[in-house]
Amino acid sequence: MLPALADEGLVDAVDVFCERIDFTLVQSERVFEVAAKRGIGVKMHAEQLSNSGGAALSARYRALSADHLEYLDEAGVAAMNKAGTVAVLLPGAYYFIRETQLPPLDLLRRYEVPIAISTDSNPGTSPVTSLLMMNMATTLFRMTVPEVLQGVTRHAARAFGNSKRHGLARRWTTGGFRGVAGAVDRGTRLLVRPSVVRACRARRRHRFRAQRALSDYMTTHSSSQALFAEHAWLPDGWRRNVLFEWSPDGALQRVTPDLDHAPHDVPCAAGPLVPGMLNLHSHAF
Ligand SMILES: [Zn+2]
Repeated sequence: MLPALADEGLVDAVDVFCERIDFTLVQSERVFEVAAKRGIGVKMHAEQLSNSGGAALSARYRALSADHLEYLDEAGVAAMNKAGTVAVLLPGAYYFIRETQLPPLDLLRRYEVPIAISTDSNPGTSPVTSLLMMNMATTLFRMTVPEVLQGVTRHAARAFGNSKRHGLARRWTTGGFRGVAGAVDRGTRLLVRPSVVRACRARRRHRFRAQRALSDYMTTHSSSQALFAEHAWLPDGWRRNVLFEWSPDGALQRVTPDLDHAPHDVPCAAGPLVPGMLNLHSHAF
């Protein structure tokens, strides 16, 4: 099936669930071999329940990412470092299955493996699609705030690869953090979560539910097709008075900073907007 789908240009990357309850190493490698022949990126759900050597195998195929990784050992970390494979940590899954084994954060830091943070969006073991994951990564995994910010921007984009469709490859450096310009590029659907969205004008104030991804907001509020933010994290750092505009199908079209004031009748994000990719894990595909 994979070659046929790849020939039609329908495949960005393949993912294998390598675990004692799912694909073995040998089966996983068969999938990777087919993908590699066609130049398709690979990702792996690895070392979530046991150390089966999945991360090291994925590194041999220069995987974009290996995900979960609670049971990852030093050899696997070293292999990921060599291959430039991103470690995607999934604190939601860790929490929901009541895992007690922490991913080897100190080893990942020592080997300078880029660490991304993601939801899992798995209805069975991590039914979450929220950047609440940033909080969980700090509380459950003891990650630092700068690590988490990089985990949902720069490193998250890297775990996606240089996908043209999402335009996630370009980087920016500013203010001590790096992000991904593509997160606010034209056509990008993955962005930010305004904690609460409200109408700017006091008399027309109304509130929407908290903890929504802007991408959800964009598609469900296609009639307004715009959102104003007093503060937003853009490729060149924090900017003020930013207007986001998108097409009826929810694709971001234009980002305009430094407006003099909020446009009339455009809803306003109550908090700062930060680019972030909610779901990098296999269940996102
Ligand atoms: Zn998984």
